[in-house]
Amino acid sequence: MPELPEVEVTRQSFADRIAGAQVQSVRLGAPLRWPLGCPPRRLIGCRVGQTQRRGKYLWLPLHRDGRPAGGLLMHLGMSGSLAFGPVATPAGKHDHFDLVTTHGLLRLTDPRRFGAVLWSSALDAAPAAPLLARLGAEPFDVTLTGERFHAALRRRGTSIKSALLAGDIVVGAGNIYACEALFDAGIDPRTRCARVSRARAQRLLASVRATLARALALGGSTLRDFRDAHGTDGSFQAHARVYGREGEPCVRCGHAVRRIVQGQRATYFCGSCQKR
Ligand SMILES: [Zn+2]
Repeated sequence: MPELPEVEVTRQSFADRIAGAQVQSVRLGAPLRWPLGCPPRRLIGCRVGQTQRRGKYLWLPLHRDGRPAGGLLMHLGMSGSLAFGPVATPAGKHDHFDLVTTHGLLRLTDPRRFGAVLWSSALDAAPAAPLLARLGAEPFDVTLTGERFHAALRRRGTSIKSALLAGDIVVGAGNIYACEALFDAGIDPRTRCARVSRARAQRLLASVRATLARALALGGSTLRDFRDAHGTDGSFQAHARVYGREGEPCVRCGHAVRRIVQGQRATYFCGSCQKR
């Protein structure tokens, strides 16, 4: 599943190239998670602004005659990928959205079709605003301090792993990154949120940031891999220290890495290094 680092690397791959381009045509494939929400012709003639990311959503602002004209909120869902390139390539079976512009073609390929391209009159208006309102802070948001993170955790009745996955305190810690960050911070994934001390919360936040920064740095290869093998976690997994390593020796202490299921998701951890 494309996670925040893959979405950010995707954004970086085309944001500058598509900026300023004028929309020439739109092609819709099979239905995605939601309908587009406007007649495709409304997009024609609009110019694309600077693509932004919030959580795993991308926002392509549109302008007409220099004035804001809504935008497209995009999500890669379970198996989506966005590519920007020459217009000439014909659409394949899994290509469900094409934005043909004067700078090239932005194409969403999504075999499982949980992805979305949604028109919204503004980022702070429906339907974009209510979707984004559920998201926690961006991981590198400097206003998200260890203290604020700790205070938010204190109000949770769940395990620390579930709180990270929920993404409503901080976004970006998807399954693989949550497992890796908890290992890095030495925290047992089953620990109740309310029991995490301020010092450990601070350390966990630093670990979430370090894990995501590492994934972003590996982004190019991750992106290539996750495009090649839709629905997998990409090459970051090859660098993971606990994720996907059940039974292998912990890189820190040599104990076997354990696998349990929490909230229907696989959790990998070291029962020796990671404490409750
Ligand atoms: Zn260990």
